[in-house]
Amino acid sequence: MRRESFQVRALVIRSYDFGESDRIIVLLTRDHGLIRAVAKGVRRSRSRFGSRLEPFVELDVQLYAGRQLATITTADTVGFFAQGIVDDTDRYFAACALLEAAERLGGEAEIYDLCVAKLIALQTAELPTLVFDSFLLEAMKVAGWAPSLFACAQCQAPGPHHAFHPAPGGAVCHACRPSGSLNVHEDVLHIMWLLSEGHGAKALQLLNHRAAIAASIHQVATRHFHWHTERRLASLHVLEQAQ
Ligand SMILES: [Zn+2]
Repeated sequence: MRRESFQVRALVIRSYDFGESDRIIVLLTRDHGLIRAVAKGVRRSRSRFGSRLEPFVELDVQLYAGRQLATITTADTVGFFAQGIVDDTDRYFAACALLEAAERLGGEAEIYDLCVAKLIALQTAELPTLVFDSFLLEAMKVAGWAPSLFACAQCQAPGPHHAFHPAPGGAVCHACRPSGSLNVHEDVLHIMWLLSEGHGAKALQLLNHRAAIAASIHQVATRHFHWHTERRLASLHVLEQAQ
């Protein structure tokens, strides 16, 4: 059977050993969603492209489609984001959590572009977790399940409100709040709104180094994300343990 080859722009989400000398690579592609592909023989010899198939590298990958797995024939580096990330624990765990979240959210070119932009931001980030949270907020907006951050998600009463629950869809007023809602400082939802709109500098200004507010933002953003993905991210767990 003759198989067509095609090229994709992609980030490596993760990779694992397969058989005696191959590696399976999970790619988040810009235009074709998630692709699982095999890189044959890359562990046996010093392959031309094997060393490039690592997380935090953006690649142009040439693939042959397969019934279950595509096969990678070549890979050229387009961007290299590992510097600044792999030698800093907080940035590293934030970057791993970001790739895992992108895998759950994947499929849209806009989310892919966000992912690349946030990996670049993480290389020099002073608050890596906040960069991760800003990715979640912007990406959830693209995915169509952004939380309501000002008006009550239940009755639309204008905020600021002081409680959040993902079930009704975000901020909730005193009358509507379901049991189990998170109590939040009004700056938490305000900063999340700034982050979701891409106003990172203003968000940092309002945050003003308050660790408790930053922790609350992370809690609210990830709770909303988990509600919608119904999956706990392994790296996220490590990220939270590290704090
Ligand atoms: Zn309400």
